[in-house]
Amino acid sequence: MTTFDDLPLRDGLRGRSPYGAPQAPVPISLNVNENTHGIPEVVAHDIVGAVAASIIGLNRYPDREFTELRQDFAAYLGHGMRAENIWAANGSNEVLQQILLAFGGPGRTFLGFTPTYSMYPLLAMGTSTRWIGREREKDFELSPEYIARVIAEDAPDVVVLCSPNNPTGTPLTLDTIRAAYEAAPGIVIVDEAYAEFSDQGTPSALELLQGRPRLIVSRTMSKAFAFAGARVGYLAADPAIADALRLVRLPYHLSALTQAAARAALRHSDAMLAVVDDIRAQRDRMSSGLAELGYRPYRSGSNFVFFGGVDDTSALFQHLFERGILIRDVGIDGHMRVTAGTETETSAFLDAMTALRS
Ligand SMILES: *Cc1c(COP(=O)(O)O)cnc(C)c1O
Repeated sequence: MTTFDDLPLRDGLRGRSPYGAPQAPVPISLNVNENTHGIPEVVAHDIVGAVAASIIGLNRYPDREFTELRQDFAAYLGHGMRAENIWAANGSNEVLQQILLAFGGPGRTFLGFTPTYSMYPLLAMGTSTRWIGREREKDFELSPEYIARVIAEDAPDVVVLCSPNNPTGTPLTLDTIRAAYEAAPGIVIVDEAYAEFSDQGTPSALELLQGRPRLIVSRTMSKAFAFAGARVGYLAADPAIADALRLVRLPYHLSALTQAAARAALRHSDAMLAVVDDIRAQRDRMSSGLAELGYRPYRSGSNFVFFGGVDDTSALFQHLFERGILIRDVGIDGHMRVTAGTETETSAFLDAMTALRS
């Protein structure tokens, strides 16, 4: 049988594996940090109406600059953002890919602090950018002094700071982000995919955009907005950044259906985000339950918990899988990651973990 490694792949792709979080049909999926709460029914009806109305015009290409959607994102973000500060694509993964297509590429480097989002090295691979993974400090934290020193050493073309970090949940302070920006010669991305789950009063890197033209704050509708299946991600930055990304995007990359669905969902942002408090509460229940069972949960500003103290990660994965629960083995010895579920799902997870201990 021919495998893709038998094909004349370009250098840099040979021997590599694609992104592959298991997608198994189990009753309780707590492995890819989706919003476990689904879309409220009244909102769903409104989105259906908006998408249906857009179908009549599908003979024409969509608005290439998705101006109205950009205005809606700017209004949602606040912080003085305007349409020209916003860019969007089919998931923040595509936004990140476009950033690397424009600012990375052959001969250039992309630096992140590991363990971090597994897609960063894959996006580097796909854009022929050299990935530099530097380790986090104790307990996966990052101090301004450390981050400034590491970035100055490697002088990367693009830096990504995931805040809160996936898979560890660790939030970053604005001081750390400021230090990274000052030390970096090039683009600094703050990936805020989980920002809406941060504890109330936690400042966003959006506050730092003014006067920092190399800073990009990346966001997504896939997590708190319960919209992972629609594929909508976006960024806020200096208007010159959004302008530059038009060099590398495919024309009309955001379909009229996507634009209509995203705009309708944004009109209901209060309803879409109403479950965030409950998700935080379930996350905290998971953390304290795991700690009571003798595991080591790390602090989390997101909708998931990263915990250590697991003797055998494959055995734990299997034990939960047999009970219809999927969690994530992120390949870090003795550690696992679990997404906050609904109250019932969280209870099922904690019960299954308790059963293992008794
Ligand atoms: C889930 C996630 C994203 C979101 O990706 P989409 O393409 O928007 O679905 C981005 N960054 C991180 C760190 C994530 O965990």
